[in-house]
Amino acid sequence: MQEEEQNLAARLEQLNQFTRRTHTQEEVFLFDVRLCDNEIDRDGERFSLEALEQLKDLFVGKTGIFDHNPKGENQTARIFATELAEDPLRQTTAGEVYTYLKGHAYMIRTDTNRDLIREIDGGIKKEVSISCAAASQTCSVCGSDRRKAPCAHQLGHTYSGSVCHTVLGEITDAYEWSFVAIPAQREAGVTKQFGTDSGDSGRCRQLEAQLREKNVLLSRVEELVRRDIVRLRFLTEGTTEQDAVSAAAKRMDLEELLAFQETLRTKQKQQCQAQLTPAAANHGGNKEFRM
Ligand SMILES: [Zn+2]
Repeated sequence: MQEEEQNLAARLEQLNQFTRRTHTQEEVFLFDVRLCDNEIDRDGERFSLEALEQLKDLFVGKTGIFDHNPKGENQTARIFATELAEDPLRQTTAGEVYTYLKGHAYMIRTDTNRDLIREIDGGIKKEVSISCAAASQTCSVCGSDRRKAPCAHQLGHTYSGSVCHTVLGEITDAYEWSFVAIPAQREAGVTKQFGTDSGDSGRCRQLEAQLREKNVLLSRVEELVRRDIVRLRFLTEGTTEQDAVSAAAKRMDLEELLAFQETLRTKQKQQCQAQLTPAAANHGGNKEFRM
């Protein structure tokens, strides 16, 4: 028990290196994620042990996002420490001791992420996918570089008793990690994505991450416009939101929503003018008014 407390204190100290102010145990939610391992995945690829070592350093401080909750705020977690863990009783297909990269992550507890934390705590959100750049991709049979000098060995085929796969090495960067809805990898509920080098593919990953952030913002703006449309329709037509037009508005993209909002605004303005003009005339001809 005492050891556990010491452990926790050490972890808090580690994570507070990444926060603007010092957080207490009550303010944060700590959890571990299995980021990736050295087993051959469904794409016929595996990380070399060296690559896992490199990923171990690169993932410290990296932010994780939750794919299926794009509208939520404070739905991010951050890895504050990493370690390689082994399962000595388990051997991989390639004959190595099963080794995985464990990330220690934290979230700041807020009202908005309470449900999410409950889900993680309950083991519901277990699948993690990562994005990184691997500069080396070699054939496990002959060691040739898959991109520069393609050989005739085929992934998944057995040559002299061992299954041909691609070994990923020379990790140049790690971009992000995320919880995904679909369990994709054979074991451990881990999937990975990776760029071929720190060049185009690396930038591609970064762009993807940026795009996702943009999409989150876009969803929020769309939601705001939808709410305004409900308000304007109530003012101009006296309708509540439970009708066919509202159902249609749910499927509109931002451009259509803005056009619809503009139409309603114009309509509302006209109605106001119609109502106010006679009154304004009665008060000394002050015809100007603004919405
Ligand atoms: Zn080969």
